[in-house]
Amino acid sequence: MNFDEWLTRRLDETKSAGLYRTLRPESCGGKNWASNDYLGLANDSRLMSAAKTALHQGTGSGGSRLTAGNTSWHEKLERKIAGFKQTEAALLFSSGYLANIGVLSSLPEKGDVILSDRHNHASIIDGCRLSKAETVVYQHIDMSDLEQKLAAAQRYNRRFIVTDGVFSMDGTIAPLDRIIPLAKRYQAFVIVDDAHATGVLGENGRGTCEYFGASPDVVIGTLSKAAGSEGGFVAGSSVLIDFLLNHARTFIFQTAVPPASCAAAHAALELIEDSREKRRMLRSSAKTIRTGLENMGFTVKGMDTPIIPVIIGDAQKAVLFAKLLEEKGIFAPAIRPPTVPEGESRIRLTVTANRSQSEIADLLKWFYFIGKGMNIVK
Ligand SMILES: *Cc1c(COP(=O)(O)O)cnc(C)c1O
Repeated sequence: MNFDEWLTRRLDETKSAGLYRTLRPESCGGKNWASNDYLGLANDSRLMSAAKTALHQGTGSGGSRLTAGNTSWHEKLERKIAGFKQTEAALLFSSGYLANIGVLSSLPEKGDVILSDRHNHASIIDGCRLSKAETVVYQHIDMSDLEQKLAAAQRYNRRFIVTDGVFSMDGTIAPLDRIIPLAKRYQAFVIVDDAHATGVLGENGRGTCEYFGASPDVVIGTLSKAAGSEGGFVAGSSVLIDFLLNHARTFIFQTAVPPASCAAAHAALELIEDSREKRRMLRSSAKTIRTGLENMGFTVKGMDTPIIPVIIGDAQKAVLFAKLLEEKGIFAPAIRPPTVPEGESRIRLTVTANRSQSEIADLLKWFYFIGKGMNIVK
């Protein structure tokens, strides 16, 4: 069997499992109910003009931060992130994915253990795989399971708890108000990935820490979601940032993000703090959709977040549901294994602050129509 035949056969297996993925052309149109651009900042003119100003420094940064790629835009943004997250310091990475990998592969050592929520993002899972520490997975936001596993982990040198702040595929919120006291009791450090909470949760949009009034040891985030730009970051103590700058390989060996992206993100963080009204609308729209779907008989996961997962179950059925939605001008993707557990394929809706009441009514109408046609609701 030659190279392409071998790959074709492997892809055939993916297809027969209902797990084949393709890119959706930009020209498809329809209302986008999948965007993580929660506050609509990705095409805000203020971000674009900030990016344009920084573009005069060039389109690419030309090197890693430690060699030729460092500019005042990077440092200005890091100070802004630290102020926004109310920590001593912050460090920029090229993406949230690489921030997670950099932290988890450098911080916990051999002889340590990482306790990881079962539904953590793929970038956390990959970071754990690269770490020399052992990984123990606890049930999703299950505090008694976490406590049991912490108690059983006292023989390790150090314990790290790592969790999404808002879970990207479940729309649930990690209970930091319970995780942090548990960490204190069992002498563990806490790492929170606030990719979906930044800009969304808390009075000023600072994320799950503000929402709970909690201070974990390490906060990770992305500038690619509510901040409408690109890049990842870590926020924490000055010594943590100094350590990562010296040890996180995804920081050391990666070309710095372009200055224009830094400038856009900087402008976004200023706007986020003043977006209270948008966050209020986001919350109320999400609630309308969540309760609307529940009242129709759909199984809806998650909590008080703009991520609304509607459980369909079977992967092929979820793909069909998404296709029928698309025919009605609604784009919301089917999420299948391995992104979610087997049998829990779902349509993942996200709400953004600029959705009108009539768009929401339309969405609910078509969900009911398709759900009834497919015998998912009565
Ligand atoms: C999106 C996401 C990431 C990755 O962030 P990027 O900047 O897109 O690489 C990491 N963690 C979580 C929880 C995410 O949802």
